[in-house]
Amino acid sequence: PVYAPADDRYERMQHRRVGASGLHLPAVSLGTWHNFGDDTPIATQRALLRHAFDLGITHFDLANGYGPPAGSTEKNVGRILAEDFAGLRNELVISTKAGYPFVPGPNGTGGGRKNLLDSLDISLESLRLDHVDIFYSHRYDPATPIEETAAALDAAVRSGRARYAGISSYSAERTAEIAAELRRLGTPLLIHQPSYSLLNRWVEDGSPSLLDTVEREGVGVIAFSALAQGLLTDKYLHGVPEGSRATQGKTLRDHMLSDENLARVRALHDIAQRRGQTLAQLALAWVLRDARISSVLIGASRTEQLDDIVACLRSPELTDDELAEIDQHAKD
Ligand code: NDP
Repeated sequence: PVYAPADDRYERMQHRRVGASGLHLPAVSLGTWHNFGDDTPIATQRALLRHAFDLGITHFDLANGYGPPAGSTEKNVGRILAEDFAGLRNELVISTKAGYPFVPGPNGTGGGRKNLLDSLDISLESLRLDHVDIFYSHRYDPATPIEETAAALDAAVRSGRARYAGISSYSAERTAEIAAELRRLGTPLLIHQPSYSLLNRWVEDGSPSLLDTVEREGVGVIAFSALAQGLLTDKYLHGVPEGSRATQGKTLRDHMLSDENLARVRALHDIAQRRGQTLAQLALAWVLRDARISSVLIGASRTEQLDDIVACLRSPELTDDELAEIDQHAKD
């Protein structure tokens, strides 16, 4: 059956301008790191993307190596975009990344020009698109001159294969460097994609912090793993449920489920309950409290999780007392 999106999808969502750019993102965006490889039925993937779009989540984030197997996520999402979202391309904001090992050999990883531009071509073919909206350098590569990485991002944009350039997980210092280089080239850096959550606050550390740096540079921020891969939900309060990411033994590792972390999660859960919301909603409202954050990038294995998540947009404002109490538990 043909997909007809919900008419009120833009009323349901809030939107934020990305840094000093002309692009807006939905306050909640959907990532495809998990749940879109060949290990997940295509019907589940289709339901997640359709439901997200109906909720106003019009930004889908990908990377070259997402799967498993590596690369399969872009092919699966590409198929669903072609089959379900054919008339909706201009409403969608699609991003992808390169920089972690993908193609075999020394040129199939890192921030070099060949890797970034070859990988982007592979991504576009898999996604069945002629351009992505944001193309990221997935990580800083100390073995490649930062000028070369910047020039490759600039070339991706100038050639029409990407609308904007982004970086992920760069330190404050490296962010300032590449932002200056991209400005010189005439392709301003759009956005930084760092991890950021109640249990991971590195972007606030140092002076200038990463958040200070992006603000000064007019660069937006999309925060990933804002739910700490599911830890900042009510899912792990009473043990590890079957089928959860923690049982899959890959990226949510045992040390994250330490007694210390779980005590923090319970304390934060109590605060959320007093506010009449779920822990997931509190965790996302807390990240979005900072106007420098353009969007929170979440993952979901079920459509019900998306409903829980977007309700964060109806959160009561966080009071100074609540923020102070949260600070007692929200530690790295
Ligand atoms: P989250 O912290 O949002 O974790 C998502 C997981 O949390 C879900 O898959 C689900 O796990 C669980 N969950 C979500 N909502 C609920 C809910 N309401 N109730 C209970 N459990 C819930 O983010 P991710 O770590 O998945 O990262 C999000 C995106 O960020 C990625 O898809 C990717 O696009 C990007 N990312 C980027 C990185 C980079 O280097 N730039 C690195 C990592 C992520 P379960 O399977 O257990 O149901």
